[in-house]
Amino acid sequence: MKAITFQEIEFLEYEDVPDPHLVEPTDVIVRVTVAGLCGSDLHPYLGNERGIEAGTVMGHEFVGSIVEVGSAVRDFAAGDRVVAPFTTNCGACFYCLSGLTARCERGQLFGWIENGRGLHGAQAEFVRVPFADATLVRVPEGLDEAVALLAGDILSTATYGADLAGVGEGDVVVVVGCGPVGLLAIRASLERGAKAVVAVDRIASRLAVAETFGAAPANFDTDELVDVVRGLTEGRGADAAIEAVGTPSATRTAANLLRFGGRIGAVGVHSEAHLALSPGEIYDRNLSYAGGRCPARHYMPASLALAARDEKLIAGLISHRLPLADGVDAYVSFAAREAGWNKVVLLP
Ligand code: NAD
Ligand code: ZN
Ligand code: ZN
Repeated sequence: MKAITFQEIEFLEYEDVPDPHLVEPTDVIVRVTVAGLCGSDLHPYLGNERGIEAGTVMGHEFVGSIVEVGSAVRDFAAGDRVVAPFTTNCGACFYCLSGLTARCERGQLFGWIENGRGLHGAQAEFVRVPFADATLVRVPEGLDEAVALLAGDILSTATYGADLAGVGEGDVVVVVGCGPVGLLAIRASLERGAKAVVAVDRIASRLAVAETFGAAPANFDTDELVDVVRGLTEGRGADAAIEAVGTPSATRTAANLLRFGGRIGAVGVHSEAHLALSPGEIYDRNLSYAGGRCPARHYMPASLALAARDEKLIAGLISHRLPLADGVDAYVSFAAREAGWNKVVLLP
């Protein structure tokens, strides 16, 4: 089959690789119809996260139809249209049962093979899905597959960010980063009753989309962010911040804009050694900080319902629908954040 594989930092190939086959009786094989390109794919691509092996098929967001079914799979059959969360989960361990599915004791991240262990990704014609019964969800009838795909990662991650930040009725929320995750975090915050959302980025085209999602856009290069937020909060600062970037400066921006007792929900993937907040600052300002990988499978039923409700708006976030063969070039444009490049999906 054709697939996009990691070779080395900033070097991917579109090449022929062996088709996946059933390994465990709980596996299925999915023929991928839509595969996402995610900000998280950029971390290994740009070398900010290390360890991924040459030859690994990239990508962890997909929708497709089942073509082969292991003998122990009960809930799915060939021909079913399914969407996957970005990590697999067994459905039976402590973490699966408590809803933290991203930390399943037997879970794996799609598109990450390290030291010979792991799972190939979905930027390919076919993908193997372990623990299919617990991992996969049916695509609702009539829903745009590219929108459904977002439930498996960034739409759920946005809601998780709002949960981590404790966003509630009447809050003023800062969303740091207006990539696809941040844009959906604006929606998630407004969904749960936020009074106002200030969306921070420096890319004009993304700030413009943030405005259509209902936020007040603020450019961290040219606007006085503190003044913007104080103006909305009687001088106090924001109640909550969702950090959707993954850098120390984004953490600082979130912290700087909060009131006493403010809460940071960090969904950006970080690779620095230390938090850009000191324990003293947390104490002196009564801040709280929570972060982590989204338990997407846990959120998917609600995310798919939201996707159906807001399908038009959410579809507007998808700037490019390209053939898989154009995927390697798409990484270059997406990583450079060229104007107009937002969510990219590939069509094998
Ligand atoms: P993206 O790279 O498309 O977007 C990041 C945006 O942040 C860009 O628009 C960039 O201009 C902006 N930015 C950079 N520095 C900034 C700063 N200091 N202040 C404000 N904005 C800044 O990525 P994405 O796809 O939207 O993903 C965002 C983050 O979420 C990534 O780190 C990704 O890995 C992570 N993520 C986490 C999970 C999870 O489970 N926690 C899931 C999906 C994605
Ligand atoms: Zn992703
Ligand atoms: Zn589990």
